[in-house]
Amino acid sequence: MRERNIAWDQIRPGTQTVWAGETSYLLQGATQVPVVHSVSFGYRDIDEWHRVALGEEQGHIYGRNTNPTVEAFEEKVRTLEGAEAATAFSTGMAAISGILFTLLSPGDRVVSIKDTYGGTNKIFLEFLPRFQIESVLCDTEDHEALEAEISKGCQVVYLETPTNPTLKVVDIERLARAAHRAGAVVVVDNTFATPLNQRPLALGADLVVHSATKFLGGHADALGGVVCGSEELVRAIYHYREINGATLDPMAAYLILRGMKTLHLRIRQQNESALAIAQYLASHPMVETVYYPGLPDHPSHDVARKQMKGYGGVLSFALKGGVDTVRAFLPQLQHVHLAANLGSVETVAGPPRTTSHVECTEEERKAMGIPEGLVRYSTGIEDLEDLLADLKQGLDVLKKRMPAAL
Ligand SMILES: *Cc1c(COP(=O)(O)O)cnc(C)c1O
Repeated sequence: MRERNIAWDQIRPGTQTVWAGETSYLLQGATQVPVVHSVSFGYRDIDEWHRVALGEEQGHIYGRNTNPTVEAFEEKVRTLEGAEAATAFSTGMAAISGILFTLLSPGDRVVSIKDTYGGTNKIFLEFLPRFQIESVLCDTEDHEALEAEISKGCQVVYLETPTNPTLKVVDIERLARAAHRAGAVVVVDNTFATPLNQRPLALGADLVVHSATKFLGGHADALGGVVCGSEELVRAIYHYREINGATLDPMAAYLILRGMKTLHLRIRQQNESALAIAQYLASHPMVETVYYPGLPDHPSHDVARKQMKGYGGVLSFALKGGVDTVRAFLPQLQHVHLAANLGSVETVAGPPRTTSHVECTEEERKAMGIPEGLVRYSTGIEDLEDLLADLKQGLDVLKKRMPAAL
């Protein structure tokens, strides 16, 4: 086997996305990571078996615990996030619930924001209370309120930025300082930004979590999740997962690993296109509000500029006329899937009332500041000119059909 000597922290992200986790040949010199479908692994004798079981020798035992393909994926994300360790899950939600159920016990308190992903919000409001764990959800951009709740004492501060679907931004560095004064662990859902745009651990977070289903995989063909952080925290979360059983399938790990090789190219294009589309929509008479942290009039643009390299591929916009306008508008778009995912190579659009926040009632969405007429738009890697022309013709149809909305 060819030995390489790479100081990953001195290697740029574009090289990391291609090479990290894939520098050693797992199978007879094959340059690509094999999909190891084996459930168990064999040994020469019981002594070797014993050494592997004790962790004294490298190797695998049983697929619910570890797998070589899954390990390659973990290593790639670990490198990109600049973390000591990483562990994979079957989905993003499995990773998020794995973190929370590892870290929290009855009587504990978690401080978070109102705008977390819909499924995460359900864990806070429906499942944690059943275990006598208190969830305190603050207005997302109200940093004073967050600091006040954190200082009252808590075990976990759970953040997500930018948020889904209204692209609110929270100051990771500032809230991590407050959390550490209170002795709490800081978790950041980095799904929307990706490690190319934002590195929460460098900003003071203790754990980063991804729905790898979205930008990391990038092709909407595999579900997955991953958690990165210190050896100690990740070992505890891994232990919960190996027992709980929400293991990432090797085939899914392979698909996400393959998708990740182009992450830097995709994100570069998606950052650029989303910003241009946000600027275009902001000047359109049919559009009431555009939500994108890259726009200078976004309420937290300064924080976003400080902690992000690019503003990401997702934006939202509210059309004048509410849900009826959205119903008429979306089918006009030609280069768009009307679907529930995001972060894919194809552009995807949909209203949050049927996607990220379908589990919520209309009242709950209203309380979260999500207008019923909102469209979430996840920019793909198509040519920007085609996406702009597509949006323009869709909005032109609306102007003709629904002049009263203007
Ligand atoms: C999709 C998503 C999740 C959940 O991930 P799954 O892989 O669908 O379980 C969590 N957080 C954010 C921000 C997401 O967009």
